[in-house]
Amino acid sequence: MPDPDIVVVGGGMVGLASALALGERGLAVALVDPGEARARTSYGNAGVLSRGSIFPMAGPALWPKLPAYLRNADSALRLNHAHLVRVVPWGLHFLAAARESRWRRAAAALVPLTTAAYPAHERLAERAGTRARLHRSGWLKLYRTETAFAGAALERAILAEHGVALEILDGAALRDREPALVRPYARAMLLTETAALSEPGALIEACERLFSQTGGRYLRGAVTGLAPEAEGWRVAYAGGAVRARQVVVAAGAASAEILRPLGYRFAFAAERGYHRHYALHPDSPPLTRPVLDTGAGSIIAPMGEGRVRVLSGVELNARGAAPDHRQIEAAAREAAGTLRLGGPLDNQPWMGSRPSTPDGMPVIGRAPRHAGLILAFGHGHIGLSTGPITGELVADLATGAEPALPLAPFAPDRLLRWPRL
Ligand SMILES: Cc1cc2nc3c(=O)[nH]c(=O)nc-3n(C[C@H](O)[C@H](O)[C@H](O)COP(=O)(O)OP(=O)(O)OC[C@H]3O[C@@H](n4cnc5c(N)ncnc54)[C@H](O)[C@@H]3O)c2cc1C
Repeated sequence: MPDPDIVVVGGGMVGLASALALGERGLAVALVDPGEARARTSYGNAGVLSRGSIFPMAGPALWPKLPAYLRNADSALRLNHAHLVRVVPWGLHFLAAARESRWRRAAAALVPLTTAAYPAHERLAERAGTRARLHRSGWLKLYRTETAFAGAALERAILAEHGVALEILDGAALRDREPALVRPYARAMLLTETAALSEPGALIEACERLFSQTGGRYLRGAVTGLAPEAEGWRVAYAGGAVRARQVVVAAGAASAEILRPLGYRFAFAAERGYHRHYALHPDSPPLTRPVLDTGAGSIIAPMGEGRVRVLSGVELNARGAAPDHRQIEAAAREAAGTLRLGGPLDNQPWMGSRPSTPDGMPVIGRAPRHAGLILAFGHGHIGLSTGPITGELVADLATGAEPALPLAPFAPDRLLRWPRL
């Protein structure tokens, strides 16, 4: 077999979208991935594609919540304290990014990316034949008390500054709009420029099929080494090795480990998350859009056929540590007060790892010290949404085209040095 022009490492939303966009530009592409569908974070997320998802976790709201977070007393975040020493660079960058000025800057940098995300999803869905899975339903942030709603005033002001459309609903209007909700909420914010994707895993499978149908080479196995050579790269993987002039590292939460032998030490972490499916009670109206219960720190998303997916908040822990189901169990208990739920439909909760940068922005750009190495990882909470547009940006970089969006905020080197605290 002739060598491909480019090898993509990782077959989640970001890697697959990159591989497809590169193929569309006429490059011969090989994609290397172990091929376990459920191992991808892109398989198990909430399916929310929102223009308003521009807020990094590190922000001014962190400070009042920090004591509860450190005691594991807030279900939105669970810490393995012993693990914290292993993510010190991430933690220091995270604290630096929590300053309001930095948080605002990150939100402004993310707006072009989240704005381009939906049109890129539509283009991908047309090619992959999954258009029917995209629903322009909007999504709801729910507030249990007026105080909690007032606490999100800055968020709403920033969304308004960036022209993100939203509606504020009081409790009665919310019940009319989403009758499946049985818990009384004080207020809700409906972000209308949002699509919900039912069964994100089905999009990933359709992208895999499209990749093979359009001439892409899918190489199954984990990458074990990247070696620069005179003419490009040798990529060793469990099934052998492949050579190409360029390589894209898009392996989600595993990306930083893959790059470490090349001398890159990224401030990077895994934010683990869980989901479990439940049937809605037969007498319940359907849930028509994803909801984030800010009081529980968890999301419930409709997945079709009367099923809902309950998703946990963030667990800061080693990617490979044994699952800790406490957070998803708490989320499920809260969800049972929000909707009329039947029993769980899965034997075990699913677990995945969000590829987390401390400033909430992805890494998209050329590697600082190696020619022919493109980095596309760290999409945190918005990688399903921004994966397809990232793929198009990767294709711009690989073909020498002017990137469709400004990439300076996403430059890799910002996470390779100590932060300015
Ligand atoms: C609970 C939860 C809810 C979420 N909700 C949303 C949401 O509503 N909207 C949204 O936009 N985002 C959401 N996200 C985030 C989103 O799922 C991720 O940002 C996104 O899936 C990251 O995509 P990725 O391609 O970078 O990583 P992944 O999907 O994890 O893919 C990485 C790939 O790399 C492969 N890989 C790993 N190691 C190697 C190796 N050595 N060699 C080759 N391949 C390797 C893996 O097998 C995998 O296929 C959520 C995440 C979680 C956990």
